[in-house]
Amino acid sequence: EKTRLAKLRRLPSVTVDAEEVELQANLEIPAELPLIAQAGAQGIGLLRTEFLFMNREDLPDEDAQFEAYSQIVGPMAGDVVTIRVLDWGGEKDIEALAEGIVPYHSGPNPALGLRGIRMLLKRPELLEAQFAAILRVAVLGPVRILLPMVTVPAEVAQAREIFERVVRRLRRRGVALPEKLPPLGAMIETPGAALAADAIALEADFFAIGTNDLAMYTLAVDRAETEVAHLYDPLHPAVLRLVQFATEAALRLRMPVSVCGEMAGNPRLVPLLLGLGIRTLSMNASAIPRVKQVVRTLKIDDCARFARRVMEQGDPRRIQELVMEFTDGAP
Ligand code: PEP
Ligand code: MG
Repeated sequence: EKTRLAKLRRLPSVTVDAEEVELQANLEIPAELPLIAQAGAQGIGLLRTEFLFMNREDLPDEDAQFEAYSQIVGPMAGDVVTIRVLDWGGEKDIEALAEGIVPYHSGPNPALGLRGIRMLLKRPELLEAQFAAILRVAVLGPVRILLPMVTVPAEVAQAREIFERVVRRLRRRGVALPEKLPPLGAMIETPGAALAADAIALEADFFAIGTNDLAMYTLAVDRAETEVAHLYDPLHPAVLRLVQFATEAALRLRMPVSVCGEMAGNPRLVPLLLGLGIRTLSMNASAIPRVKQVVRTLKIDDCARFARRVMEQGDPRRIQELVMEFTDGAP
């Protein structure tokens, strides 16, 4: 089994009909970095930076962040690293932060409050420090920047203004910057963002569809609420239609789009995502070999036909059945 996986690592991630499917890794803590190389990931599609802000009583400054990011971008040796700026709030562990460091209000409903890019735009100095650290690390390898919890195009535009201000400041400081600045992308992880994806696409350089939060906000089911866990289902047609709408908005503009929620690492759901037009999947490194194995058995035409059948269905149970049927022969 081990040698089989080692062999698989060297094989390309292509379908039977030669369509390339990029398999990237999600990274939550730097300790997972060796796994990424082992799995044969084509870069990091989602670097969650929350780890940097946890279990400490102060904020990591620009230099500390630069250090941390270099230890990831360096070893990735030229493979792209998609760094998501701080996604604080919602279900994320706010207890870890000393009171007052980040202006977090739990409010009547934390998941609908000051989360992700909303919080960062309220405290632009946090975003500035993070952008500066990321820009400095961008000379070490290709880097992309991802904004969490975007719901309106203006959030991307505002973040870009801050980004450009930081670029000017670094240039004045004489800091070396790459010739091509990192692209600025938006997470599509709320129904609002998905349904306005065509408008957000005009401001963003790429999309990363976060199906974890997209399912939560679409179905009004908290990711962490066990009482309603049976209703949490990325195969609900509402979630799939949003994924489809956002994907098509990006493809129309030839803008890069990926899926980086748990769904992307589920081998049974990969044919459906490919059928909807997705060609880049980002997942836990450990899921990559299995997903690659499945990709190498698929034909894009079959996936597209299968996705059309799925999208005609209204009942998640029926969709589940179709998915099981289609993937039963899967290795
Ligand atoms: C998501 O919401 O799908 C996602 C990838 O981000 P996170 O799980 O970190 O919220
Ligand atoms: Mg999310």
